[in-house]
Order: sequence, then structure tokens, then C-alpha cells
Amino acid sequence: MTHDEFWQAVLGEVELSLSKASFTTWFKNTSVNEIGESELVLNVPNIFAKEWLEKKYRKIILSSARKFHPKIDRITCIISNGQDAGKSIDSLVKTNQSAKEPLEKQSSRKAAPKKTYTSNTFNGFSVNSNLNSKYGFEAFVVGSNNELAYAACQSVAENPGKNYNPLFIYGGVGLGKTHLLQSVGNQVLKNLPDKKVKYISMERFANELVNAIQTSKAKDFKNEYIQLDVLIIDDVQFLSNKEKTQEEFFHVFESLYQLEKQIIISSDRPPKSIPTLEDRLRSRFEGGMMADINKPDLETRIAIIKKKLQEKNFHLEDAIVAYLAENIYHNVRELEGALNKIIVTYQLKNYSPSLDEIIEQTGDVISTNRQKDLDPVKIISSVADFFDVKKEELSGRCRKKQIIKPRQIAIYLMRRELGLSFPEIGKNLGGRDHSTAIYACEKIERELENNKILEDHLKFIKEKFVDY
Ligand code: ADP
Ligand code: MG
Repeated sequence: MTHDEFWQAVLGEVELSLSKASFTTWFKNTSVNEIGESELVLNVPNIFAKEWLEKKYRKIILSSARKFHPKIDRITCIISNGQDAGKSIDSLVKTNQSAKEPLEKQSSRKAAPKKTYTSNTFNGFSVNSNLNSKYGFEAFVVGSNNELAYAACQSVAENPGKNYNPLFIYGGVGLGKTHLLQSVGNQVLKNLPDKKVKYISMERFANELVNAIQTSKAKDFKNEYIQLDVLIIDDVQFLSNKEKTQEEFFHVFESLYQLEKQIIISSDRPPKSIPTLEDRLRSRFEGGMMADINKPDLETRIAIIKKKLQEKNFHLEDAIVAYLAENIYHNVRELEGALNKIIVTYQLKNYSPSLDEIIEQTGDVISTNRQKDLDPVKIISSVADFFDVKKEELSGRCRKKQIIKPRQIAIYLMRRELGLSFPEIGKNLGGRDHSTAIYACEKIERELENNKILEDHLKFIKEKFVDY
């Protein structure tokens, strides 16, 4: 077995346990450098891949590698293209440090003077970058929901056109896509002020294209784009059902891509879910690096609130921060909105509100945030959908392992999310005895103590509630 064959076989297994986005991101352009007595040495394209493969994916790689070389117990990655070689991850991810520092230390630091990069001129050619200086990596809080997208954006900002092209970031509304995209643009211009960078939403791109066509200036329009070094397109899902725009955009994309200019794209869904997207565009989008952003977990929501408070120089008691973070969880925009309302109300009065006052004030947002009409049927549908089993099977009598587990999870969620009594839960799941419900709940609770995968599954299932 050659090194190549070995690595392909290992990758084949690794791929099964990761999302497509993570797999493509971290394992693309990797290869075996050397297989020693107990060490596997890999070539990886950059420092981010090195960090992730050595730390986060070490176990997965080891377990597949050992099937072929049982003695391997160590993985070392070597950065092979030289760009980031020798740099520490800290120097690349330097801007995020503040998110992890204790708050006292953060607040004593002066806010950096703000600069706005609007347009830059090159040989008489002026680009309106459309960038807003309020968005920067330093203001972005990194959590497990967005670390992949964040790392990818940082990497692209450090070396535009080199590492991942195109970079495709996708995720639901208000989760920080625009913030990250804008941060890339601002960072590139900070490091390399000569670069021609442009940020534009797909909607505006489409409108401007239509105008240009109507005024017979389509060529000038396209020329402007193909001279860019970095093109950032926000909300590309807008291309759906727009044939002409797709065609023109494809040409812009191709020209830039051929010239190794960086293209960064965001969308509220992955390329395969954008209806009527031309195949050639879809395969281009999928051919680069894709990274998703999910909803932030509680810890990240708390960090975000603290960060925003610090930016606005406002203090809220920890109990209030926790209350907001626990109750507003669909997206960051809503969280920010509620916070801004609080700040506006109390800052002028120069008054620190109590938890009761906050509960009163945020009543509206919070009640709409709580899963408004969550009921047993929605829980059953979400669980069935997630595990790809039939709803009837969950209520039915089947004792197969692949049904029992989802059924126990549904029971657990009915107890936890709806606070139903055990007899009620039994009734909602095909007339089961309450003792079955008690047993299932206890079992899942015990398992949750040391089963991270189950915890993740529950997180995904809860996110599905809103779909029903
Ligand atoms: P999207 O483009 O995905 O709809 P935005 O980038 O507009 O979302 O984010 C909505 C708001 O939430 C913005 O004000 C942004 O600064 C803030 N935000 C989102 N995610 C984060 C984060 N991880 N850290 C700090 N602020 C965030
Ligand atoms: Mg946006």
C-alpha cells in the first residue's frame, strides 16, 4: 500500500464521521509526508489545518490510521506550502484574544480608534469597497458554532486568493455572516491597502447589473468587477430564479477565479439548497471551501452579550446577562436588539436595572423566542426527522435499537422542554406506561453526563423544532 492509497483509505473513513463542510475544509490538500514507527506525519496547507488535525481530529484520524498501521499513536502535521509556516496560530488568530480575556482586563483597554475604509483609488480606478469599519474580527466572538467559518475567514484575510477560493460561508439569519465577510474586507485593506476590495450584496449586484444593461453599460459594469482583488458577495441565495444574473455573475466569477483573486460568498443555505442555481455555479461554490455557522450555544451567547456591553460601556449584572442569554437564542441579531433597547433605556437615566425590570422590558422578545407553540407532535416530528425514522414508529411498539433510542430522546425532550408529567408523556407516545417514560428520561440524563455526541444530537434536534 502506497502512502497515497493509505491516506485515501483513512480519508474515506474520516469523511463518514464529519460534515461535508468540515471534511472539505480541513482535509483538502492534505497528504502523508512520512509514516514512522509510531508517528504519522502529514502535509497540510496551513496553520489552521495543522491545529485542527492535530487537536480536534486527532482521535478520528488515529482510529482510522491504526486499522492499517496499528502502532501509530501520534500525529504531526507539517505546513507544506510555506505561507503560514513558522507562524504561530496566535499570531494569525491574534484579534480574537479579547473575547477570552477576563472582563476587567478588557474594559481597561481603550477602544481602538475607528477608521472607515470606504473607497480606494488605483491608477485612477476607484473602488467603492462598501465596507463598514464597525465590523472587525476583534469584535466577533468565536464559539463552537462559528469557529470553522471564523478560522476560514481569518485565513483568507491573511492570504487572499491563496488558501481557499472561493470561500463559501452559510448559515441562518442574524448569525454573523455579514459581520465575518465585512471583517475579511476590512482586514485585507488594513494589511494590504493597495488591494481592490469590494463588498456587495447579491441583491444590489443584481440591481446594478439590470441598470447597467438598461443603460448599455453592462461591459463597464463587468470590467469594474474583474479588476478586483477581493470580491465579497453577501446573501448569494438571491441568485435563485435569476437566470440572467447567474449568467453574468458566472463570468465575473470565472474571470476572478482564473486570476486567483479571492472570492468570498455568503448564503443562508448551502449551495445545493439554492433552488434553480445553475450546476456550473453550484459546483464552483462547492469546489472551494465551505464553512457553516450555526446558532450560538449558551456560553457563546453569554460571551457575545458581555462583549457588546463592553463595547457600549454599559454594565449589567451577571444574573441579567444569564437571563438574556438563556432566553434569546435564535440568533445574535435579536440578542443584540434586546440589549440595545435595554442600553438606550437605562444609559440616559444612568441607572442599573434590576432583573425584574429587565424581565418586564424584554417580555415581548422573550415570549416570541420561546418556542411559541412547541408541542409533543413537533418534538416527535423533529426527532423522527433527525434520525430518519417514521413518526409512527416512535409511537409504535417496535423494539429495534434504531427506534428505541430516538423514542427515549423524544420522551426526554417532552419532559425537559414541555415539562409534561410522565403519564402525559406516555399518552403522547402511543399510550405507553408512565414507568417507561421515567426510565427513558433517566437513561438519557445519565448518558448525557459523558456522551458529547448525544449532547450534539439534542442540540441539532432542538434547532429543528422551529421547522415544524
Ligand atoms: P447575518 O449576516 O448572518 O444575517 P449579521 O452578520 O448581520 O448576521 O449579524 C447580526 C448582528 O449580530 C450583527 O450586529 C453582528 O455584529 C452580530 N453578531 C453575530 N454574530 C456575532 C458574534 N459571533 N460576535 C459578535 N457579534 C455577532
Ligand atoms: Mg447578512
